[in-house]
Amino acid sequence: MKLRVLGCSGGIGGNLHTTSFLLDHDVLIDAGTGLNELSLTELSVIDHIFVTHSHLDHIACIPLLLDSVGFMRERPITIYATEETLDILKQHIFNWKIWPDFSEIPNIQKPIMRYQTIALGEEIVLQGRKITAIPANHVVPAVGYHLDSGVASLLFSGDTTTNDALWDIANKIKNLRHIIIETAFSNSEIEMAILSKHLCPSLLAKELKKFKGDAQVYITHLKPGEVELIMREIDQIEQRLHPKMLLNNQIFTF
Ligand SMILES: [Zn+2]
Ligand SMILES: [Zn+2]
Repeated sequence: MKLRVLGCSGGIGGNLHTTSFLLDHDVLIDAGTGLNELSLTELSVIDHIFVTHSHLDHIACIPLLLDSVGFMRERPITIYATEETLDILKQHIFNWKIWPDFSEIPNIQKPIMRYQTIALGEEIVLQGRKITAIPANHVVPAVGYHLDSGVASLLFSGDTTTNDALWDIANKIKNLRHIIIETAFSNSEIEMAILSKHLCPSLLAKELKKFKGDAQVYITHLKPGEVELIMREIDQIEQRLHPKMLLNNQIFTF
């Protein structure tokens, strides 16, 4: 499995893009503005999109992707998410007012997009690649994902605040090599972090204490303009795991 970071910022500006990861050439984990890193040809071969939650920074490019490549393709793009998240997308995005419902275009028999409901803990296997939704604790229904090649695996927290269930799962995964976890705010914004159900460095440090393993931890979803500050605060608090900043276009092979 090869995972390429297309976007890992909490916002945009300059080279910053919001959350999206490309797994091999055909699977996306979230589809924020990071999709702008891909050519039209690369976009046209994406078959599967796994969505963590309905917030715009994680889905912004799905509507435009469907419109851009739909008529270049022979089969539908599948959007995977929990029932709650799919309901929000159907009601608030693909409602013919914000964007057309591409699950009916050009017709219901042969649509450009199809929805597939997934449940927490359900393992989806795509050509040997195992993708499993794991719990997240956010202001809207949300999940993270565990990506497992069989040889090694990677956990992506999605947007989350304090999340005991995540660590219960992480501590049981024997081949866990990488953890990508969000830290959206700096310590001075802890009230905002709690209110919006994200993490700040002091909350992250409490989370990482629950982790017994030694996977390499990468930090994502940093607030633009506070990247150095947040990473400095993490460096000062977290002494055991030495988290690194996730970088755009970073590639994980596992
Ligand atoms: Zn969110
Ligand atoms: Zn977000």
